[in-house]
Amino acid sequence: MFTDTICAISTPYGEGALSLLRLSGPKAISIANRVFVSKDLSSVKSHTIHYGKLIDNKSNELIDEVMVSVMKAPKTFTAEDVVEITCHGGLYVTKTVLELLLNNGARLAEPGEFTKRAFLNGRIDLPQAESVMDIIKAKTDASLKMAGQGISGGVSRLINSLKEKLIDIIGKVEVNIDYPEYDDVEVLTDDILKPLIFNLLRQIDSILEKSETGLIMKEGINTAIIGRPNVGKSSLLNLLLEEDKAIVTEVAGTTRDLVEGYINVKGLLLKLVDTAGIRATSDVVEKIGIDKSYTAIDKADLVILMLDYSSPLTREDKALMKRINDKNHIIVVNKIDLNKEIKLIGRPDYVLISTTERTGIDNLKDIILDRAGVSSYKKDLTYLSNVRQITKLKEARLSIKDALTSTQDSMPVDIISIDLQNAYFLLNEILGIQSTDLIIDELFSKFCLGK
Ligand code: GDP
Repeated sequence: MFTDTICAISTPYGEGALSLLRLSGPKAISIANRVFVSKDLSSVKSHTIHYGKLIDNKSNELIDEVMVSVMKAPKTFTAEDVVEITCHGGLYVTKTVLELLLNNGARLAEPGEFTKRAFLNGRIDLPQAESVMDIIKAKTDASLKMAGQGISGGVSRLINSLKEKLIDIIGKVEVNIDYPEYDDVEVLTDDILKPLIFNLLRQIDSILEKSETGLIMKEGINTAIIGRPNVGKSSLLNLLLEEDKAIVTEVAGTTRDLVEGYINVKGLLLKLVDTAGIRATSDVVEKIGIDKSYTAIDKADLVILMLDYSSPLTREDKALMKRINDKNHIIVVNKIDLNKEIKLIGRPDYVLISTTERTGIDNLKDIILDRAGVSSYKKDLTYLSNVRQITKLKEARLSIKDALTSTQDSMPVDIISIDLQNAYFLLNEILGIQSTDLIIDELFSKFCLGK
């Protein structure tokens, strides 16, 4: 348990209707009590909220009228005494309340320190703590749901079920080391260990596969929309954004800068890089855009090449088609509301759309999901939710694979046991058990202040 009491402003920095300040620690209630004059907070019931005045206890001046929530340990976010003060949302008043709390014995919290305390006090494990941040950062329905699963312990249950299976296998190996009841090692490895380890590996593979897909859903897929000027890139972008964030204009080559943004395509997050029109040119400014476009193609995980239905294929179109050939791509032919001038030879995978008439857009969205590899994404969103967890599980998988190889090579069972125990250690690391202080500090420092 911690002996100091931390405090921070938990709402974003800026002017708003209300601000929330949070205190956590053994002196949370007594510190609040020193500046809140309307009621004795030390005698109120836990999990109650109180209206009253906040007074500067040095000058006796009124600072604000506030609402104070008193939540006594252990059933609080940090498992410590927690007091939340809601004051008016001005920059100056919020800062003054913070200073008042600091002057009365609280210490300014570091980013993520409230969640870190919840973890270190054993109220939540590491995947749950990470999910707190994921909820704050979620940009799509799917990522919010995934984070929700994580925070309610879904990820932890998944890992715990793997741990149970692993312990079962380790137990069988250990029993054999301590009391060899089998005549030879082969009986144990062939009949008992191998099927169990196979089974465990299959389960891990399935989790990893779903988790990688989940990660794409959550973090987004780098997408470049390319094509020569005037084919309708900005129009498509705007349609997908459903608002005018990119400039749509009749003048060729106006979208010179890369416009970056996120769009939510049926729950998949596209990290969009709308590129300048690509065409051979001597214009210096235009050229910068073109170079950027090629860079964007190289960086993108998915390239959407747009062509114009109402004009014949140009040299640039053909060059771009060649350029994206070995990339994950979609070729979109726009302006099908106009007369057909384009000759589409031997390529059945064109997606026909009209941005002005909004035709083919839903089909395009489905194809985007398909190319991103998430079209079969299921409703069950209990997967590992970040790269740290996935990397650790991959390492654990390798260790279990080593154990399997050892059984196949008829290695002594204590060698097998070492690999399995290492895997167990790695699974524990996913949950934050036995993690070093350094990892913990690093993880929580990524949180926002007051969380
Ligand atoms: P960009 O240079 O590739 O970004 O192209 P824009 O989105 O700026 O579009 C160029 C011009 O084509 C604009 O005048 C659009 O209104 C027009 N345009 C875009 N999509 C369509 C379409 O589907 N049909 C027709 N008829 N015109 C379109």
